[in-house]
Amino acid sequence: MLDEFRSIESLQRRNLESPQKHLWSFEASTFVDYKNDHFPLWKITCGNKKPDASTLVLVGGVHGLERIGSQLCIALLEKYFELSQWDPILQKQLEQLRIVFLPIINPVGVFEHTRSNGNGVDLMRNSPVVAVDKVPYLIGGHRKTKRLPWFQGLQSEVMQKESQFLVDAVMAEMKTSKSLISLDIHSGFGLKDQIWFPWAFTKKPFPRLDMMQIMTDFFEKIYPDHIYKIEPQSKVYCTHGDLWDHLLHDKIQSSSFLPLTLELGSWLWVKKNPMQIFNMQGLYNPIKQHRMKRIFRRHQLFVDFLTRFLIFMRTDEYKKTDFEAYYKKGLQTWYK
Ligand SMILES: [Zn+2]
Repeated sequence: MLDEFRSIESLQRRNLESPQKHLWSFEASTFVDYKNDHFPLWKITCGNKKPDASTLVLVGGVHGLERIGSQLCIALLEKYFELSQWDPILQKQLEQLRIVFLPIINPVGVFEHTRSNGNGVDLMRNSPVVAVDKVPYLIGGHRKTKRLPWFQGLQSEVMQKESQFLVDAVMAEMKTSKSLISLDIHSGFGLKDQIWFPWAFTKKPFPRLDMMQIMTDFFEKIYPDHIYKIEPQSKVYCTHGDLWDHLLHDKIQSSSFLPLTLELGSWLWVKKNPMQIFNMQGLYNPIKQHRMKRIFRRHQLFVDFLTRFLIFMRTDEYKKTDFEAYYKKGLQTWYK
């Protein structure tokens, strides 16, 4: 069994004995069959289950090879589990907030150390969205063959079970949330940790630019020396079939939905430990223990900030914001 599954099951067992067990739910009701195995798609929820919650959705392991994404998501789950047992500040926060963990979207990929799922499909190219601006050859998604990476699946096929699970889970949460921010954790691009916001299918400005600019301004005021490069994904490259584009474009009309991607800059780990280049996993994951621990620590700040920002979005103060001015500022910041 994957270590990641073991960690989740151990928390689930501890929760049964916990006085705070009403705060948590552990669900594995969808399974992916592969060879002779049966892999669960976990959804773990903590906090307010009522329809007026603000919701943070943390996602990992869409690309199985980028295992650090799942590991970071589970490290955050463990941290919130521990804190929820005794921390009155978090317990108070959870009256308005729900945190949903979808830590291993592509368990077969994590198990086999592949980017794609068991059918050779790249889940983050698998939605029906077709890019309107130029995408890089192959990397942007293609329908040629599953033997090449970035395969979108066949046009005639429905979405893969794992992709559908992610889309359904986010839609279900949005139905019972006042506002929702998701953070989908990946690795493998660049020297810096990056926060990407949609779109991936076009270079046109992202419609929630106002919310993105407000959030960025607030974050940068508190943490002017933060480590992230924040920009639209389309500035780096465009792709077909992005699942977040699909959710935002086709499924969720709410103006309080903000899907973000955290792309951990793995080139930095390779630079510090060049031998990693000879190991496929090493290109996408830190190999040294101390580096992994540092990754688990360094993103806590941003995730904590998101939980606070989501609660701030409920206030009259936020509703009084001049959204148009922030949208215009967003155009200046990212689309000049
Ligand atoms: Zn990825």
